[in-house]
Amino acid sequence: MEKREQIYEGKAKKVFNTDDPNLVVVEYKDDATAFNGLKKGTIAGKGVINNRVSNHMMRMLEKEGVPTHLVEEISERETVVKKVQIVPLEVIIRNISAGSFSKKYGVEEGIVFDEPTIEFSYKNDDLGDPLINSYHALALKLATKEEIARIKELAFKVNDVMKAYLLSLGIKLVDFKLEFGRLPDGTIVLADEISPDTCRFWDSETNEKLDKDRFRRDLGGVEDAYNEIMRRLMGD
Ligand code: ADP
Ligand code: UDP
Repeated sequence: MEKREQIYEGKAKKVFNTDDPNLVVVEYKDDATAFNGLKKGTIAGKGVINNRVSNHMMRMLEKEGVPTHLVEEISERETVVKKVQIVPLEVIIRNISAGSFSKKYGVEEGIVFDEPTIEFSYKNDDLGDPLINSYHALALKLATKEEIARIKELAFKVNDVMKAYLLSLGIKLVDFKLEFGRLPDGTIVLADEISPDTCRFWDSETNEKLDKDRFRRDLGGVEDAYNEIMRRLMGD
C-alpha cells in the first residue's frame, strides 16, 4: 500500500488516496474545533491519542461483530481504512444527560436514562448539522429505510459494547457520535472515529470530565484528560 495525494482536509483529520482505490489513509491532527468551527485551538498529542484510541475501540467492536472501516494502523497518526461513501448523518447515542440535550430540554447534566436515546443530525456544516429524524433522513434521501434500521441496530450495539468495556476501566460513557459508511457492495460499516473528541467520558468515581468538554468549556487539563483515557484503555 502506497500513500498518494490528499483528497480532503477536515477539522480533525486529513484523508489521502492510496494505490488501492478501495483504501484511504486517515491522518489525525492536533487541531481542535468546537461550536461548529467557531472555537479553534490545538491539543498537543491529540492526533496520536485519537488514532490509537479509535483503532483500539474499533478492533474491539469488530471482535464483537460490528463491521468497521479499520484496516491497519501504519504510524502514530495514520491508519489505513476502507474507503466508504459516508452516510451524511451524525448518529448520537446518549446514556446520561449532557451538552446539547441538557441545554435544549432544560435539564441538568448527569441524569442517568433508563434506556439510551438515539438522534440524528444532518452532516452539513453550512446548515450547522441540524437535528433531523429518520423520516427527514428518508425524505432527504440520505439513506434508505433498511440502511437506517441497520445503522440504529449497530449504533445501539456499539453502545452496549463500549459502555460495559469503559465501565470496567472506571469510565462512564455519557454520550457519543458515530458516522457510518457504505462499502462498494452496499454493506454499512462503522467509519470515522471514536475518541475523546467524539465521546463524553466521565470518571465513574468523581464524574471528572475526560474528554473534549475540557477544551469546549476551558476547564484546563485538556491534554491530561486525553492522556488519561489512553492510559486507561491501553495502559501507557
Ligand atoms: P470534518 O469533515 O467534520 O471536519 P474530520 O476532520 O474528521 O471531520 O475529517 C474526516 C472526514 O473523513 C470526515 O468528513 C469523515 O466523514 C470522513 N471519513 C471518515 N471515515 C472515512 C472512510 N472510511 N472513508 C471515507 N471518508 C471517511
Ligand atoms: N459530537 C461530535 N461531533 C459533533 C457533535 C457532537 O462528536 O459535531 C459528540 C459530542 O462529543 C458528544 C455527543 O456527540 O459526545 C453529543 O453532543 P451534543 O449533541 O451534546 O453537542 P455539543 O454539546 O457537543 O454541542
